[in-house]
Amino acid sequence: MDCLFCKIINKTIKSDIIHDDKECIAFNDINPQAPVHFLIVPKKHIPTVLDIKEEDKKLIGHMVSVANKICRDRKIDLRGFRLVFNCNPDSGQVIYHIHMHVLGGRKMNWPPG
Ligand code: AMP
Ligand code: ZN
Repeated sequence: MDCLFCKIINKTIKSDIIHDDKECIAFNDINPQAPVHFLIVPKKHIPTVLDIKEEDKKLIGHMVSVANKICRDRKIDLRGFRLVFNCNPDSGQVIYHIHMHVLGGRKMNWPPG
């Protein structure tokens, strides 16, 4: 399958990995939109959040736990951070393997663009 994030997961393409476990990896975004901007990516290839199945619910919870841990380690937990899943064209999703953006280290705007 020609999926950039599957290639990052199986390490045929290099990335700046900051977390790696049985279920997911996290790596810094190549085009950061904030001082902290990394992606949490499940090892299972799931194209969009619409494809998340009943049996994936624990996996999604685990991804949030990993985000929390990294934000606590980086001491941006109390000032705050943002978790984002884009889904389909209107959201700006460009990689069709789900990923949770974790953004922080600056004040975020609301509503988002
Ligand atoms: P999305 O628009 O939600 O699909 O986000 C895709 C994200 O992947 C963007 O923020 C890109 O900057 C990021 N990205 C694309 N290629 C790479 C890469 N090789 N390593 C790290 N991040 C990447
Ligand atoms: Zn994939």
